[in-house]
Amino acid sequence: MSELIDIAIVGGGPAGLTAALYGARARARSVVFEAGLTGGQITSASWVENYPAFPEGIAGQALGDLMSQQAERAGAELRTLSPVDSITVEGKRFVLMVDGKAEVARTVILATGAVPKRLGIPGEAEYAGRGVSWCATCDGPLYRDKVVAVIGGGDSATQEALYLAKIAREVHLIHRRDELRATACLQEQCFLNPQIKMHLSYLVEEILGEGGRVTGLRLRSKKDGSTSVLPVDGVFEFVGLDAQSGLVAGLCELDDQGFVKVNEDGLTSVPGLYAAGDVAAGRLKQVVTACASGARAAYHASQYLDEAG
Ligand code: NAP
Repeated sequence: MSELIDIAIVGGGPAGLTAALYGARARARSVVFEAGLTGGQITSASWVENYPAFPEGIAGQALGDLMSQQAERAGAELRTLSPVDSITVEGKRFVLMVDGKAEVARTVILATGAVPKRLGIPGEAEYAGRGVSWCATCDGPLYRDKVVAVIGGGDSATQEALYLAKIAREVHLIHRRDELRATACLQEQCFLNPQIKMHLSYLVEEILGEGGRVTGLRLRSKKDGSTSVLPVDGVFEFVGLDAQSGLVAGLCELDDQGFVKVNEDGLTSVPGLYAAGDVAAGRLKQVVTACASGARAAYHASQYLDEAG
């Protein structure tokens, strides 16, 4: 069994990396276990305009890379390609099974984030990765001068529609209500962009395709119930997030949507177990709030370590 970890951080996105930075600076042995590569969901954001200190904005990937470098420089250990399979409590210790090997920690910060929700409509699974995407940065360049649809009305849908409008010939933004949910400045930019066509109060009932590729969407108007087919070459879905809280589902309290309940210190219902970032319950899900909650969880985890002796 390997050396005892003071703060085991599960997930290497902005929340986990900031927790690692703060943990390491508090001279607590802080280890990040990340199933893939560090950076988290932000690495699939085309451009981040609301993280302070970058007046022109910054690519999500570059921001994630900078956060990883800073955590590592402070002394945190970043273990990539290291999926945590389970977390159990044994007395005052947490046992994490990482790739079949037990790691023992005095505290855990869960920062596993959230993943894009799926619509669950016909054609979605069939054309996933063949015209249906959840990442504009990854797949947008495939649609140069083509026609794409973006489904959703939140910050992700509007932000990524603006990005896709720089590549595709036409972007159809389809939202189920007659007003968008997104932050006002993103809405304004979308309404002003001549390449973005708004379809408000429409439901997407089916993703249509032929010969292994997407050809269109079947839409239903919520106003008059009529259906129509919108021809598109690709579809990007941004209809919200599902919490990645499965690892602690039987361990601590979750809210009715599956997000981890935490108090103002980031503490869950289990002493020594904290949650930060998108996996934790809370309305504002931004990079800056993920970082803040990671810092707060690490601060309180190190206090807990000091008190436990
Ligand atoms: P979100 O804010 O939850 O918005 C999801 C959108 O999808 C809503 O407009 C919702 O419609 C729609 N939707 C949900 N289920 C649907 C369904 N079954 N069929 C059709 N439409 C459906 O999710 P998000 O945009 O991914 O953002 C997640 C979090 O990250 C938010 O807190 C957001 O502020 C944050 N974020 C911030 C930025 C930024 O600051 N630049 C960028 C991206 C994300 P209704 O409006 O009718 O509910």
